Amino acid sequence: MFKAIRIDKDEAGYRAALTELDEGALPEGDVMVDVAYSTLNYKDGLAITGTNPVVRRFPMVPGIDLAGTVTHSGHPEYQRGDQVVLNGWGVGEVHWGGLAQKARLKGDWLVPLPAAFSPRQAMAIGTAGYTAMLCVLVLERHGVTPGWGEVLVTGAAGGVGSVAVAVLARLGYTVVASTGRPAEADYLKKLGASAIIDRAELSAPGKPLGKERWAAAVDTVGSHTLANVCASLRYRGVVAACGLAQGMDLPASVAPFILRGVTLAGVDSVMCPRPDRLQAWERLARDLDPALLEVMTREVGLSEAIPLAGELLAGRVRGRLVVDVN
Ligand code: NDP
Repeated sequence: MFKAIRIDKDEAGYRAALTELDEGALPEGDVMVDVAYSTLNYKDGLAITGTNPVVRRFPMVPGIDLAGTVTHSGHPEYQRGDQVVLNGWGVGEVHWGGLAQKARLKGDWLVPLPAAFSPRQAMAIGTAGYTAMLCVLVLERHGVTPGWGEVLVTGAAGGVGSVAVAVLARLGYTVVASTGRPAEADYLKKLGASAIIDRAELSAPGKPLGKERWAAAVDTVGSHTLANVCASLRYRGVVAACGLAQGMDLPASVAPFILRGVTLAGVDSVMCPRPDRLQAWERLARDLDPALLEVMTREVGLSEAIPLAGELLAGRVRGRLVVDVN
């Protein structure tokens, strides 16, 4: 038996509870992992609370991330004792996930734990941090360099936002952090933000084109915020869009694209091909200061993950939550 969070949906309703599960009930897979740490991302918040239909099979063990040690493997690349990391691939949505002491997974979904990180650090990064790095890589792929000018990060005090601020600042960018929490200004400056703006400046319906300000942006918020970011990018600016914390809609016009040649680049972490994942983890090892990772991380136990899911969705969690499942 092992401890896990289990989500059920039936006549009695949608509910998540800490429970004990039988190892025999684990889904099919060729690698068994003893989980050391998992995390709480925005999507885990949606899954645990049932706010959005991200869970598509029941019962489900949530947790889109895990780090742990292989205990059995039928996969050629992994052996007992190997330390591994998993992010996404529908785990925690359609396949039992990381908010549990054990997981059975497809070896093809795993990546070796990068030598630079402990399992706890890898989960302090988690999908949020790995997605932040995918956003940075997308900006680089579009030619953005620190010399271009200010880079905006929206939802800056959240998980993706915090890692994006820290990485971009370390790479030499002038980072402007947009947040709804002015009380987190010192925190964001510690991560490397040069200036803070109130997210209210971006979240209301805006004009098709605004004053040109940002060379590039990482947007975790979507909706009017992303539309306003596009409208205020400088000529040939680039925004990496990965989130929907404000909303899934995009009430924008084509004006910034056809008059200023700006690029709206989408970022997905779930089905991201393995070479890009490995590159993102390599770059995190190089470009994320582990001391800052500690600053942005709070460790909690499995039993705290359920109440914290609602707090996370309400935008009241700062940075990253790492979950010690044992
Ligand atoms: P967090 O909850 O940690 O961060 C989200 C942040 O968004 C909050 O901290 C808050 O920042 C801001 N925010 C919250 N509500 C609103 C609102 N109504 N209007 C404007 N801003 C708001 O979540 P994560 O960092 O884990 O994820 C961020 C987003 O990125 C989510 O939408 C998530 O689904 C998405 N995501 C997408 C991935 C992909 O593969 N595309 C992978 C990972 C995440 P502040 O207080 O600073 O304003």
